Amino acid sequence: MTEETFDLLIVMWVVLALLLAPIQLVVVPAYGRHRSARWGPEMGNRLGWIVMELVSPIAFLAPLAAGLFAGAYTAPIYVFAFLWTAHYVNRSLVYPLAMRTSVKTIPVAIVASAILFNAVNGWTNGYYLASPWADYGAEWLLDPRFIAGLTLFLLGAAINIDADRRLMRLRRGTKRTDYVIPQGGLFRWVSCPNHLGEIIEWSGFALACWNLPAAAFAIWTAANLGPRAWAHHRWYQRKFADYPPSRKGLIPFLL
Ligand code: NDP
Repeated sequence: MTEETFDLLIVMWVVLALLLAPIQLVVVPAYGRHRSARWGPEMGNRLGWIVMELVSPIAFLAPLAAGLFAGAYTAPIYVFAFLWTAHYVNRSLVYPLAMRTSVKTIPVAIVASAILFNAVNGWTNGYYLASPWADYGAEWLLDPRFIAGLTLFLLGAAINIDADRRLMRLRRGTKRTDYVIPQGGLFRWVSCPNHLGEIIEWSGFALACWNLPAAAFAIWTAANLGPRAWAHHRWYQRKFADYPPSRKGLIPFLL
């Protein structure tokens, strides 16, 4: 494939994300609190998360693997591969195993669409980094875009993991599967700090990589999680009469 063809495919992929974002404000993907039996056959929630999220590191590492083991790449590419893999070890294994979710299910349609999403984003990012177009000399590690992007990635990951852990603790030691108002950390200001952290994280990755597929993944993440955070926020406001009125959905003091 030529670089021009690859870029064109990525642009089309981004257009799809931008078309789907407003639709997701109206049709909320039916998992977690928005689960609906109308979305067809279902499977176990934990297994669904493991299966759909494991696809991403596999698709990302597949085009890179041979060169990684042969030491064929420059240092920045090893850093990118490490960040991607570390995120997905957490998302596909640590996070689902920590869920209080034994009785919950997820529609197979959601798992299938997430597999497609993860396969395309993982593969396009790995493919680009393995290609000759990925021209990162070791000096890229000192480029302000790399340093700022890495800092954002780590900040976003810390926010995301902290928020997910706070959510898990809400049911720890109980048999509850229902919802309570989360407190502490960035929940003081927003309903969905886990989504905010994830958007910051992949925006940072895109800045550090400074390439098209990483930017596309950041846009897809925001296009998925912006509407989802908004749906969560409205759901909290409807469900809890005493929901903190000053708490925003995704961006502190703003939105
Ligand atoms: P949620 O905040 O909806 O749920 C996270 C976990 O916490 C679930 O196990 C949920 O249980 C539980 N939980 C949530 N709120 C409460 C509450 N008020 N009381 C008790 N338990 C609660 O997160 P999502 O499912 O939307 O996303 C999960 C992770 O995956 C996030 O970190 C998100 O950033 C990431 N993600 C990334 C995407 C991307 O495009 N890169 C796309 C989607 C998710 P239950 O399952 O019962 O609702």
